[in-house]
Amino acid sequence: LPVVVIAGRPNVGKSTIFNRLVGRRQALVADTPGVTRDRKEGQATVRGRAIRIIDTAGLEEAAPDTLYGRMRASSESAVANADLVLFCIDARSGITPADEHFANWLRRQGRPVLLIANKAEGRQGAAAAMEAYSLGLGAPLAISAEHGEGVADLMSEIADRLPPTDLPPVQKQSRRDRRIQQEESGEVEDVRPPGPLRLAIVGRPNAGKSTLLNRLLGEERMITGPEPGLTRDSIAVTLNDDEGPIQLVDTAGLRRKARIDETLEKMSVSASIEALKMAEVVILVLDATLGVHEQDLQIARLIEREGRCCVLALNKWDAVEDRAETRQAIKDRIEMSLAQMRGIPVVSFSALTGAGINKLLPTVRRAHEIWNRRVPTGALNRWFEMMVSRHPPPLVDGRRLKLRYITQAKARPPTFILFGTRTDQLPDDYQRYLVNGMREEFDLPGTPIRLLLRASS
Ligand code: GDP
Repeated sequence: LPVVVIAGRPNVGKSTIFNRLVGRRQALVADTPGVTRDRKEGQATVRGRAIRIIDTAGLEEAAPDTLYGRMRASSESAVANADLVLFCIDARSGITPADEHFANWLRRQGRPVLLIANKAEGRQGAAAAMEAYSLGLGAPLAISAEHGEGVADLMSEIADRLPPTDLPPVQKQSRRDRRIQQEESGEVEDVRPPGPLRLAIVGRPNAGKSTLLNRLLGEERMITGPEPGLTRDSIAVTLNDDEGPIQLVDTAGLRRKARIDETLEKMSVSASIEALKMAEVVILVLDATLGVHEQDLQIARLIEREGRCCVLALNKWDAVEDRAETRQAIKDRIEMSLAQMRGIPVVSFSALTGAGINKLLPTVRRAHEIWNRRVPTGALNRWFEMMVSRHPPPLVDGRRLKLRYITQAKARPPTFILFGTRTDQLPDDYQRYLVNGMREEFDLPGTPIRLLLRASS
């Protein structure tokens, strides 16, 4: 069940709220701090959905002596596992330093929070509740648990913020969307399989893939041999660098010649697809003397669609005259055509002479590390709040979209779920604003990033 935790300094009314939600007298309440509570947990139903409710008031007794110590100790583990935290203040007494202290701590925990101004009876109470805006935890919900005012609102606000029970239908079924759906449903792997990093080398005919492969094999200790389970003509090739083995996949495809009915261009793309599917990291080899062709972009799009991480290899660097200019022009072209490849790592070298080739595998390793990275939820949401307050989401049909929180669902590639209301109407450019910001903040250049939007009710 989803876990909802009631937190706040002592005596703001946590147990009363708990009782209201749980519907039975499961906790003893008195208007003095430090009264013994016999019960910390119960079940409630919001919008037909069962939830678990934890009242941290019941834990305060056992905690260390200072007020902060008590609050912290009682809340720490409960909050860490919460799907939603109900942070309560006392509207009658206003915001106290203890509330501020606790709110600051809570913000750093990165859990979704609903701010509740309790004891806000009548009009006056509602006005007093507004002071709680200053805590930076969003709009306070004014209630009076004692009098039963605002409890229905509280239930529906809780329901709005719970993690979704199942995934909403995918609207656009582009191939990329379908692929993302497969990633979500676990049809394609996420968990890092044991064994060496799997690397593919792809690119148009004559870009220098075979030359590169031979160069890599010439310089590294090589293990080759027919392996069971691989197709007849494919050979398992393993390279070693300082960090361990790297398995080159589909080296047979690399040497495959075009069938009669295939143009050279068609072949380079279809051969790349096969290799991509088996790889984690893909080196896209370009002939730098020729610049970027539509074909290269097509392959890059495939890499992105399949969620692989990509290293852009500018080969034949020995034959390039204006190096700085060429490098920039190629990078610009790729990034302009493929926003998803922003910050893509670029390595220039000559497969023929070997010059510059030593940078290639370290770059592959780093790209792989980024692709596998997980961003802690707390840091992610602190950044997210900053982004949203800097540029709030736009008005759609005169109403503002509410974005609530974000979490990383998986890695390989980094995949984030953004919760909010009417997220299906979040414009593409706002999504790009978030994704690009995320790349910078959490150092995720080059890797495909998935941002999935969920309605949080
Ligand atoms: P593939 O079709 O991508 O496997 O390309 P190949 O490896 O067969 O190379 C195509 C041509 O480009 C060959 O004539 C290579 O000698 C040449 N070539 C490959 N790498 C380089 C390089 O770094 N510099 C130069 N000048 N030529 C290269």
